[in-house]
Amino acid sequence: MLIVVVLLITVLMRFAIVTAAVYLLLPAGPLCPHCKIDMVPIKNWFFDRLLPALQRRWCLSCGWNGVVRRVRSAPKRTGKRSPRPIPR
Ligand SMILES: [Zn+2]
Repeated sequence: MLIVVVLLITVLMRFAIVTAAVYLLLPAGPLCPHCKIDMVPIKNWFFDRLLPALQRRWCLSCGWNGVVRRVRSAPKRTGKRSPRPIPR
């Protein structure tokens, strides 16, 4: 019985290592890995519901499409800022 548990643990560890390696190999962020232009997100039920850490994107410039890691973007400023005075 012990050998079955050890083999099961090694198989699970192998899955975890492969999953982590694949996740780290994916390009991160909304920029295209080829031309560094902001890509368009593609709605995908699988990634949106089951794997929210990943996102499918499409580059309008070079046509690359694939799965990227979703990164948190900085919150957009919505408040109006007073215009900067022009130095004279
Ligand atoms: Zn591109």
